[in-house]
Amino acid sequence: MTTVCRTIYVDLDDVLCQAARHFLIVVEREFGKRIAYEQLTNFDVGHSCGLAADDCDELYRIVHRPDELLRMTPVNEAIAVLKQWEEQGFDIAIVTGRPPESVEVSLAWLAKHRISHGSFTVVDKYSRFTTDNTNAITLTELSTRRFCWAVEDSLPMAHFLADEMRVPVALIDRPWNQSDGEHFRIGRYRDWHAISAAAPALIALNGGRV
Ligand SMILES: [Mg+2]
Repeated sequence: MTTVCRTIYVDLDDVLCQAARHFLIVVEREFGKRIAYEQLTNFDVGHSCGLAADDCDELYRIVHRPDELLRMTPVNEAIAVLKQWEEQGFDIAIVTGRPPESVEVSLAWLAKHRISHGSFTVVDKYSRFTTDNTNAITLTELSTRRFCWAVEDSLPMAHFLADEMRVPVALIDRPWNQSDGEHFRIGRYRDWHAISAAAPALIALNGGRV
């Protein structure tokens, strides 16, 4: 008999939070470059904006400052969907690749926008930091957890979830995730309205086990 899994993995940046749009405000303010959102065809915003390596590092440092993170706007239509899933008995696990030192401000941001969640986990999704002596976990540690489905914008993470963890993924359509082909466990959705409408299909992808 399989045990019931009712935990939904939800990414934070560019799924719940308009991170890339805020990055573009910072790129214009700090580096004098005006780049359109649709031009962000690489997951690395600095790279998409044609910044030099040093400037990419500086951009990464600036956008992770508490004042900048707190100022980011939410993806408004996500908030009602998460609340609805919680009311239906699902547990919302927010899983982010932000650096471990951003936990406190990220939790403050979630509270500020009243975003429902049962847990908040930092994972070294992109080999950007060490998890030693932090509350963050590695991808290997993440892979021992169970999720009924996941909402992500990152192609590498969507494939990790789908291939390594056999988790159905709702990939939210973004300019930087257009290069992917078909994958039977990854569905592409235009926005949160489409993801909400697709919840029954995501359940079916999980073998009907929720
Ligand atoms: Mg993201």
